[in-house]
Order: sequence, then C-alpha cells, then structure tokens
Amino acid sequence: MNDMHACKPKILMDLESLNATNALGCPACGRKFSLGDSAVLACGAWGSGPRYIHENEAVKDSKTSQYFERGYYMSLKEDA
Ligand SMILES: [Zn+2]
Repeated sequence: MNDMHACKPKILMDLESLNATNALGCPACGRKFSLGDSAVLACGAWGSGPRYIHENEAVKDSKTSQYFERGYYMSLKEDA
C-alpha cells in the first residue's frame, strides 16, 4: 500500500488516497486527511519509512529534495 504513490512525493488527496492513508491518519498531527488536502511523502520520527503527512507539517530538504516532518527535520539538523 505504501508503494502506491512511490513516484509522487506530493499529492492532492483524492478518494483513493484517502482510503489508503486514513486507516492510520496523518502521523505528524494524528488527524485524518480531507479530500483535496495536499500531502507529501515524508520521513519522520515514526521510523517505519516515509508516510504521507499534511504539506504544511513538512519541510523539503533542498539538498536531497526529500520531505521531512518539521520537528524531525529540526532534530536532524541539531545532531549535525
Ligand atoms: Zn497532519
């Protein structure tokens, strides 16, 4: 299920995407997605590979073009 949008780091939530993600909801804020939300495939402290989170909870790393959950990204930067 997680491979479905592997080539698309950023999506607009449609019904198919909602069905795929809303069993668990957004790992960043714990809320469900709504139709038309923009979501990005991001890495975060949940640790089980990239998951879709709301776009406004993610930052894009300019070097790798990968998205990260905001708080997780900050903690990575602090460690560096
Ligand atoms: Zn969220």
